[in-house]
Amino acid sequence: MVRRTKIVATVGPACDSEAMLRTLIDAGVNVFRLNFSHGSAEHHQAVGKRIRKVAAEAGSNVATLVDLQGPKIRIARFRAGEVTLHRGEPFVLDAAMDESAGDEHAVGLAYKELPNDCEAGDTLLLNDGLLELTVESVEGPAVHCRVVQGGVLSDKKGVNRKGGGLTAKALTAKDKADIVTAAAMDVDYVALSFPRDEADVNEARQLYREAGGQGGIVAKIERAEAVADNTTLDNIILASDGVMVARGDLAVEIGDAELVGVQKHITWRARQLNRFVITATQMMESMINHPQPTRAEVSDVANAVLDGTDAVMLSAETATGQFPEATVQAMHRIILGAERSYQMRDQWKRDDHVPTLIDESIATAAMFVANRLAGVKAIIAMTETGATPMMMSRIRSGLPIFAFTPHAACQRRLAVYRGISTVNFDSAALAPSEVNQKVVDLLMEQAVVETGDKVILTKGDYVNVNGGTNTLKIVEAGGVIH
Ligand code: PGA
Ligand code: MN
Repeated sequence: MVRRTKIVATVGPACDSEAMLRTLIDAGVNVFRLNFSHGSAEHHQAVGKRIRKVAAEAGSNVATLVDLQGPKIRIARFRAGEVTLHRGEPFVLDAAMDESAGDEHAVGLAYKELPNDCEAGDTLLLNDGLLELTVESVEGPAVHCRVVQGGVLSDKKGVNRKGGGLTAKALTAKDKADIVTAAAMDVDYVALSFPRDEADVNEARQLYREAGGQGGIVAKIERAEAVADNTTLDNIILASDGVMVARGDLAVEIGDAELVGVQKHITWRARQLNRFVITATQMMESMINHPQPTRAEVSDVANAVLDGTDAVMLSAETATGQFPEATVQAMHRIILGAERSYQMRDQWKRDDHVPTLIDESIATAAMFVANRLAGVKAIIAMTETGATPMMMSRIRSGLPIFAFTPHAACQRRLAVYRGISTVNFDSAALAPSEVNQKVVDLLMEQAVVETGDKVILTKGDYVNVNGGTNTLKIVEAGGVIH
């Protein structure tokens, strides 16, 4: 059985050698994420090249996603590297303080705007929510707080305001430079951290296109503002090629109890709006240090699959963990188990979906028939841009979608979409009358279909024309196919 839900793995010191990248590709990684919150542009460029080289050797269409740091609000540094804060003690976040002079009473701020963005009564969460402070007063550049939940606080830890509302723009000067780097690296996706609204996404896309970038834009949903109302969220989704449910920061801003329902809503809505969705953060967290996942982690990954996510993501598990390969293998196994389950068969077929474009109509019709006609074993989409299979994969089905395309960039772009496998195929190299026979024969050779199975084929009238899919054909494998 082919796994439909895709795996995104973050690259870091634990897996950035050629040998380990190859190991992870063989274990099933579909997309490598380069986290620009860490490491130099030069290092990422070298790793990006290495991924392409190893992928070519492995015959893999693995995609590369650059994840921009964004305006992560951070404290500055401590004289001793870290301090321990205790419940009930005062603590000051001071924008005017020397950047490396922090102690157990106060620390500087890497984000100087914080005193303008908060007021007495606010709750500030540090280090992904592990420490909690209440703001008692703001005096000039100094935010005077009281420790509610203490703990160890070390250099450069992140700050979130409960309920959101920090004004930082999504794109920092570093992000703008990193967008140019990503364009030069010819990556497949750029993920934008902390967008507030669709204007942030549009700005990132414009800068990326101006720099010559051809990849897709992923909006990370991780700010309370982004999910505050349906219109804002819909507009962010529509401005993007896909979204990431960035649960680490999102949970801190909206509360962990609210997160689960919001995650399900984003997953459902992204698919409905013809966009993909990646579910991220702490999916297999315990496997950073243990060779097996917990029951709760298995359940988390499986539920994301059952809810319809396109991909599940690994962060520190593969970047710095002790068991990157075992983690990917476990995720692969859990996904397959969830996909086999009964519940996968019958939901979200989108019977009421009203298409507005010709290729979208063909995609919708193809899936309608595929999900109902007995004997259909595969769908083949002959594609230049990938648009038709992308739309097909928004409609739930247990059947594999094979995207036949000669373009390597298109093959990589499709790597993140649920249910799509790609086949490197140039129909222009064949006589038009031979193409249909050839593609079905190829699936027979791969033992995907056998004599008598039905196959659904979609294509345009002309090869090498974008957006031209206008034909749906149902053929039987093993026979003469025109
Ligand atoms: P990050 O984004 O790992 O870059 O913070 C993901 C998240 O916030 O969950
Ligand atoms: Mn984040």
